[in-house]
Amino acid sequence: MIQALRALERFLLPNACVACDGAVAGADPDAVVCGICRSRLRRVVGGCPRCQAPMPPVGPCRFCAEWPPELTWARSAVWLTDEAREIVHHFKYQGLRALGTLAAGYIARTVGRPAGALLVPVPLDRRRARVRGFNQAQVIADALAAAWRLPVGASVLWRARAAVSQTALAPQERLQNVAAAFRARPAPPPRGEGAESPIILVDDVVTTGATARAAASALGSQGWRRIGVVSFARALPFALRATAEQPSFIHSTRAYRTTR
Ligand SMILES: [Zn+2]
Ligand SMILES: [Zn+2]
Repeated sequence: MIQALRALERFLLPNACVACDGAVAGADPDAVVCGICRSRLRRVVGGCPRCQAPMPPVGPCRFCAEWPPELTWARSAVWLTDEAREIVHHFKYQGLRALGTLAAGYIARTVGRPAGALLVPVPLDRRRARVRGFNQAQVIADALAAAWRLPVGASVLWRARAAVSQTALAPQERLQNVAAAFRARPAPPPRGEGAESPIILVDDVVTTGATARAAASALGSQGWRRIGVVSFARALPFALRATAEQPSFIHSTRAYRTTR
């Protein structure tokens, strides 16, 4: 049945890389990103031990300074470069679920399996879930659960109200916008079943960290004490943006195409 659905999906998909329109080699039904674009994805390594943001020349990391204490770590597989952005975009807006499996594969290979954790997809608000038909974080969480053999707790966290679109908001406004947006199920009582389970929030992209911070606050207020977050991509911090925009880092055909 799954094979038939994959064959159908493959048939309906354009036989082209979602990031560069080049041909995708291979018979793998999940191959929707070409080898060149895959090789151009830039892994997130080093940085702050808690959140992976590049450390400032002096003083502590500012990216995670105001995170709630329950949110102990964040890991992303790749930086949100042009290729990664195209992958996320096609996944989100064209519903190419194979890309969710791809994203989960990158996370699973980059982040060590968190033993005993409960995977919790960051929920979409109801309006967006209705329009989109699926939650991309849930698709990634399900694929990650299969790779890591961990349970998914989709009912642990939900949206309290429809959030205003984040895109046009300044960072501080984003934070206020999402702060009251989440509700969480109470954690099991101490020494109860699952009481020691860490929660791993799963999302497609971490941008300012405001969503993870708000979700962790809601979980923390319900007694969850150990929360991590994993995502496929991480917005490029200002410090790395300049190097990413140098031509040697950019897919050259793509750069020409967008300036034509
Ligand atoms: Zn490509
Ligand atoms: Zn940090």
